[in-house]
Amino acid sequence: MTRDPRREPRRILPALLLLLLGLSSVPAAAPASFPPELRFRTLKTPRVTLHYHQGLEAMAREAAALSDEILAAHEKRYGYRVARVHVVLADVEDDPNGFATPLPYPLVGIRVVAPRGNDDFGNHDGWLRFVLTHELAHVVHLDEARGIPGAVRKVFGRVPFFFPNALTPTWMVEGLATDEETEGTAFGRGRNPDSRMILRMAALDEDFLAEDEAVGALDRWPSGQAPYLFGEAFLSDISERFGAGTVPALAREHSNNLIPYLDDFTAKKVTGSSFHTLWREWAARARADFAREAARIQARGLTPSCALTDRGIRQVGPRAPCRCPRPRRAGRSSGSRSCAARSRRRRCGVRRASRRASSRRCGPRP
Ligand SMILES: [Zn+2]
Repeated sequence: MTRDPRREPRRILPALLLLLLGLSSVPAAAPASFPPELRFRTLKTPRVTLHYHQGLEAMAREAAALSDEILAAHEKRYGYRVARVHVVLADVEDDPNGFATPLPYPLVGIRVVAPRGNDDFGNHDGWLRFVLTHELAHVVHLDEARGIPGAVRKVFGRVPFFFPNALTPTWMVEGLATDEETEGTAFGRGRNPDSRMILRMAALDEDFLAEDEAVGALDRWPSGQAPYLFGEAFLSDISERFGAGTVPALAREHSNNLIPYLDDFTAKKVTGSSFHTLWREWAARARADFAREAARIQARGLTPSCALTDRGIRQVGPRAPCRCPRPRRAGRSSGSRSCAARSRRRRCGVRRASRRASSRRCGPRP
């Protein structure tokens, strides 16, 4: 779930990647390796085992209480009970993130540094609640196995490839957890205006992703965010159309499947339509809704703005102000243009990067 592909774990098996699910764009389930000076202790609740190192005692107690509460809520909603969950808290990186995997046992990793509200995650009512709601949703969803897969697991244990929900599209896996994070907390990415902006611009730019594009491997904007944002919005639309229990029903129905990748059969059984049809219908409505919304925004008048970057790629992290005429002290901007050129662009105003951040147009856009 980091944003730096260089930190992706080694790709041993494609299936293993599907089981190592982070909270944001790129899986962050790096091989467990911590600085040797850290001394880990363990805290147990009836359902969860917390592993934490020195300095995190209070946070570990809070995480333990939250984990019990959130896990119970997810299990009730999905009608499925998981084995003891292990949660590892570590303060070893500055990039907020987390991951969950059902193998070899239910395991959640949490980076304790909290987002500041100005990145992909948007506002939150507490990082631990946010990240645990997301990751424990993965734990319940990916673990779920009924019918033949469930019987095989009862006899042989946690056999890989008998986790039917782990082989669903990434927009389902991450969309479901992002939807739960939105419904289960005060904020969540489903309520983040930046998320809505990305979908709106995709609709206005006539580049609204299809269901086979909103996956983790998308190599263009919005890149790794696609399964989270499009998946959440799509599943939220399904819940609105067919009822609040539809997403758990999809998870329950799919967890019976011995043969993977039959997702459309699952959708037809639960909703009467395939995911392909549901997505096409949702996309058509979304395009029309966003067009009306853009017209309303334009009628109110737009704030003049222009792109801050011109490389057409995702750029995150701090950029020191450009202080011409001392270009050597221009900071860590990843742009390759001169300080003067960047300053000229900045005079146009401020606008968040979009897929067309490289368009170099200065002017109002919704
Ligand atoms: Zn996730």
